[in-house]
Amino acid sequence: MNLIFLGPPGAGKGTLAGHVSKEFSIPQISTGDIFRDAIKRETELGKKVKEIVGRGDLVPDELTVSLVRERLTQADAQKGYILDGFPRTIPQAEALDTFQKLSAVVNFEIADAQVVERLSGREICKTCGAIYHVKNMPAKVKGVCDKCGGPLYTRPDDSLASITNRLDVYRTQTEPLIAYYGKKSLLKNIDSSKSPEDTLVQIRAALRTLK
Ligand code: ADP
Repeated sequence: MNLIFLGPPGAGKGTLAGHVSKEFSIPQISTGDIFRDAIKRETELGKKVKEIVGRGDLVPDELTVSLVRERLTQADAQKGYILDGFPRTIPQAEALDTFQKLSAVVNFEIADAQVVERLSGREICKTCGAIYHVKNMPAKVKGVCDKCGGPLYTRPDDSLASITNRLDVYRTQTEPLIAYYGKKSLLKNIDSSKSPEDTLVQIRAALRTLK
């Protein structure tokens, strides 16, 4: 099952990819997580992308595509995967088509106002990457991860300026992928304005028709 999770920042792709990954035993491959990890470890890649990611702009296509291409050759991705945050541009999608055959593209639909609300309260565990929201999905103990006890932090690109830019970038560069995959009859539209549980039910239903 080769899946793409498509949608604006804050739509819940990362949270839901975590659930679906466990349920179907396929890896969640998040380009955003790969870049953040490289930035944290101060690798060559991390140094190259730090400012771009901080602003909420896109990392150049060539770099991103070669990274994903390499990741998809690894053993755990041979029976399927969820690409979370990739592709984000038409050239990325065209490149992916040259080396992968997709099963479906799950398109997370949500209004801009709700995106801003979700991202401006988002907190992430530094240790295990679990995602929380100060109001909608708070940790049991403030600042501490329920799952592993790690410390929670706010992503530097969850500042209001960067959120607004990421939404702009999404509308201009990524949204055209909806038509791109629509033409290929791969698109599964999901209403992601409700709870993660509700969204998961919709995704299960969409994926059931694949088998
Ligand atoms: P979100 O969906 O919340 O904006 P992600 O974790 O998916 O966040 O991505 C964070 C940042 O990483 C993006 O704003 C961008 O700078 C970079 N990035 C992630 N995926 C891609 C991609 N496919 N192409 C280019 N840049 C990317």
